[in-house]
Amino acid sequence: MDYTFDPPSNHDLSSMYRSGRNAQKVWTENGIDYRIDILQKWKKAYESRSDELINALATDTGRIHETILEVETIPKSIDRWCDIAKELFGNSEPKLSSIPFIAMEQHTVPYSLVGVISPWNVPNLLAHIDAIPALLAGSSVIIKPSEFTPRFVEPLQHIVESVHELSDVLQYVQGDGNTGALLLDEVDLICFTGSVATGKKVGQQAAKNFIPAFLELGGKDAAIVLESANLEKAASAILWGSVVNAGQSCLSIERVYCMESVYNSFLSILTEKANAIQLAYPEMDSGQIGPIISPNQTEIIELHLEDAISKGAHVHRGGSIEHHGGGDWVRPTVLSQVNHSMKIMTEETFGPIIPIMSVSSQDEAIHYANDTEYGLSGAVFGEESVAKSIAKKIEAGAISINDAGLTSILYDGEKNSFKSSGLGGSRMGPTSIQRFFRKKVLYTNTNSQNDPWWFN
Ligand code: NAD
Repeated sequence: MDYTFDPPSNHDLSSMYRSGRNAQKVWTENGIDYRIDILQKWKKAYESRSDELINALATDTGRIHETILEVETIPKSIDRWCDIAKELFGNSEPKLSSIPFIAMEQHTVPYSLVGVISPWNVPNLLAHIDAIPALLAGSSVIIKPSEFTPRFVEPLQHIVESVHELSDVLQYVQGDGNTGALLLDEVDLICFTGSVATGKKVGQQAAKNFIPAFLELGGKDAAIVLESANLEKAASAILWGSVVNAGQSCLSIERVYCMESVYNSFLSILTEKANAIQLAYPEMDSGQIGPIISPNQTEIIELHLEDAISKGAHVHRGGSIEHHGGGDWVRPTVLSQVNHSMKIMTEETFGPIIPIMSVSSQDEAIHYANDTEYGLSGAVFGEESVAKSIAKKIEAGAISINDAGLTSILYDGEKNSFKSSGLGGSRMGPTSIQRFFRKKVLYTNTNSQNDPWWFN
């Protein structure tokens, strides 16, 4: 079923900016307890219409398990942030500075209008991951989700309309990259999640406009499998980390470096496990992995597979694009005899592909893991202390040890994206809310005497 939307006119956008900025003044002045109450109202309204969201997202993405998870995660995220924000904003009481007669008060001043631009691979989660702390910090937010998965925006708008206190501080706008670029010229801070190529443009435009940009971009995560690894467990974790969401995750495991002494065993265990994974077709719950959501991505996956196979990669399972029910599908694809002359080992593929390369030493594994422009995350499997020492040498912001993709589940730890995978403060961890305000201090002289450092 086709779905179309009209991109906003300049007039529409101007009125969104105006109402967002106006409403933000009251939003921030009313204080943190008020904002928490309203976000809790939003949570209830959201939960009561979650079926509509699930239907819209499942229609656009062709998958159900991941959709349910990403819809369910937002209320949990609202609760988590409400708890954190209460503690964080609780105390602006005056206290003494290091000079006894000067009192000080620490305040926070939120950015007025925050823009969020998000991708199609996990549309709902990534539209809200930065918006929730920004709202609690006291900002007004305009979210522009990807034009490839637009259907869920209407139910989101209906939910926000039912909580009238939110309707001007949380706005959604449909549109493609042109709308994103227009938004960038008006907001005071931008949170962008998407590809490295677009992220670089966004970063440049933000620099021109002199606004902070938090860029969360692509990845080419490596997994390293040591001799000491539990191969069964490593294979299960890597398979999940690589093919869940059909590999369409920034933090997918996209390449594996396995010590040569356990290479053959690992390859055969992984291939056997990959054989058991089925396509979620003809029904969305027929199997574990859904279709490729964006046709552009299918072309990239096909190009990377062709390039690898033409250069000698051996396909143990999968290896081609299948067409079913009007969609493009890729079975979990296990490749051996791969090397770094192949795009599949160096460029982001964003599909359920697991190329496995044999390495003869830990140093070689580290060298190849770092032989990339990306630095998002990664994984190491093996005896804990050795795995940790290797993890510290990988140039990426989050490493799972004896597991994969833990940053998709845990929000506790802070992490930065290294190299071209991003820019700006951590989006994870409690302090990430500080991205949305400036700190301000008031110093008050409480002394009736002249300061000793003044001219006499
Ligand atoms: P994309 O860069 O093509 O588009 C992302 C968003 O940017 C869309 O909303 C798009 O309309 C908008 N856009 C396009 N041109 C723009 C411009 N000039 N100015 C402003 N906005 C513009 O990315 P995509 O294909 O939608 O998403 C897939 C990419 O996202 C992958 O590279 C993936 O790794 C990355 N990603 C990163 C993370 C992370 O947290 N690091 C999470 C999910 C996805």
